[in-house]
Amino acid sequence: RSAAAVPKLKMSDGREIPALGLGTYLGFDKNAVVASKDKELRDVILKAIDLGYRHFDSASIYNTEDEIGEAINMKIEEGVVKREDIFFTTKLWNTKHKREEVVAAVRDALEKSGLDYIDLYLMHWPIGLNADYSFSDVDFMETWRGLEDVHKLGLVKSIGVSNFNKEQLQRLLEEGSVRPVALQIEVHPQIIQEELINFARSENIIVVGYSPFGSLVMRYGKQFPGPKIDDPVLVEIAQKYGKTTAQVVLRWLVDRNVIPIPKTVNPKRLQENISIFDFKLEQDEIEKINRFNSNKRYTEPSFWQTHPHYPFEQVENPLSDPFRD
Ligand code: NDP
Repeated sequence: RSAAAVPKLKMSDGREIPALGLGTYLGFDKNAVVASKDKELRDVILKAIDLGYRHFDSASIYNTEDEIGEAINMKIEEGVVKREDIFFTTKLWNTKHKREEVVAAVRDALEKSGLDYIDLYLMHWPIGLNADYSFSDVDFMETWRGLEDVHKLGLVKSIGVSNFNKEQLQRLLEEGSVRPVALQIEVHPQIIQEELINFARSENIIVVGYSPFGSLVMRYGKQFPGPKIDDPVLVEIAQKYGKTTAQVVLRWLVDRNVIPIPKTVNPKRLQENISIFDFKLEQDEIEKINRFNSNKRYTEPSFWQTHPHYPFEQVENPLSDPFRD
């Protein structure tokens, strides 16, 4: 089967980003991020490249930069892709927010991945932490200066942020020298992010949507309230196009100009998730899915909610900090 053609979107710095990416966060278990075993993730990435995936989403905290880079380099050596065909995103972790720590963090990501540049480097959270995970008072604008430094050095081609709210983004636009080209946030039928997406669009900032399946799937062993994979509203739309409900939800993101980054390690679902560029939803179908909105987040690190730069609403019973307890 020939590789699917994933369209590209233009970013405000003139560079292009594929309209679908592959997520690589493997989960959190017993106080630690789950790491890939026996090069499972590397083999998934090899397969993904054969299927037409060109955009990979990583982060320092995911522990996946090494296997993604290894697979990319194998496919470059095989002559299947060139480096410039690949779009590699990774993220700065919260414990490296001092301006001078950013260059070292990027060099570490380059060394782990074996790549000589990163396509998109994101500040993972606006929240600065000390090495022991206590709150640090480093302002995210100082951290942004560090991202501007690595951009200027050419170590990263484009820079952006993740988990910033509208006010934080506004401040970045006002006080920064380099504009963020992308904003990565949680977007799925339970949190449609209408306001933040419209704001980003008005500022020519590309929105990348994480956890695109929302409540459709079990997430790290948990089931969340909201539409399931067999939801009748989704099934009806899926049947009309001869697609699965998972594909309909990914297409709903694409049709709202959001770049989905679904994660899967399953070859069949890898193929399924990329096969969404041969149909398009009608406006009323987009709106039907919008109506699932309840502003429910699955990534809600409320253990950080007393941090001065916590981006989300406060909750009554914050979780305990898995990084510390
Ligand atoms: P997703 O919405 O991508 O869901 C992943 C789950 O869905 C997995 O359990 C996967 O299982 C399953 N799945 C994948 N495809 C299908 C399908 N077609 N049908 C049914 N089930 C399917 O959630 P994530 O939270 O992983 O988000 C995606 C990516 O976003 C992450 O991997 C990460 O890269 C990024 N992210 C960024 C965050 C941030 O703070 N910036 C926070 C959270 C995520 P299986 O593998 O077995 O197929």
